[in-house]
This record gives sequence, C-alpha cells and structure tokens, in this order.
Amino acid sequence: MSETVLAIQRCNACGEAVFPARYRCPRCGAAQWSSEPTAGGAVEESTVVRHRVGAEGAGDVYLASVRTLAGPVVIARSETALCAGDAVALAIDDAMRVWARAR
Ligand SMILES: [Zn+2]
Repeated sequence: MSETVLAIQRCNACGEAVFPARYRCPRCGAAQWSSEPTAGGAVEESTVVRHRVGAEGAGDVYLASVRTLAGPVVIARSETALCAGDAVALAIDDAMRVWARAR
C-alpha cells in the first residue's frame, strides 16, 4: 500500500485551512481552494482501540488527534502509542487512512 504526504485545503479568498476538503469555505463562503502538503503537527490526544466488533484478534489500533501546523485537527492512526505533545509527520494511504508517525 502506498502513501503520500497528507494535504490540506487552503481557501484562495481568505486563507482558511481545512481538513477534510469542503465545497465552501466555513469562514468566507468562497469555493476556490489550493492544496498544500502538511508539514506535520503535534499530538493533542491519543487513545487505543483494543476491541473492535467484527475484527476480534486483529490487534490494537492506536489513534491520535493531531493539530497540524496549518491549523486543522486530523484524526490519525499510528503503528505505535503516541503521547500528547509528540511531533508527527502525517501521510494518507490508498485506503484514505491518515497515519501519524513520530518524527
Ligand atoms: Zn475563505
């Protein structure tokens, strides 16, 4: 499975950054966007999912809310436990899952 650096959308009219992409800007209502790669972010909160209905025995899933340097918060998976304050890089895979990796 391949990955690319996660991109956020920035409003061409007012500069508001959003993720996920939206049709209209929540700040000014414009609908023209530019895409820019995230430069990573910092973990705000994290958790681990140990029991999933229909996926018993599939292993733990680590999740974190990450405040990107551009502003939006994204929910990301991680291969390891992350702690609040950890600096991470963000990527998105072919299945549209966002991944956080400690830097
Ligand atoms: Zn705007």
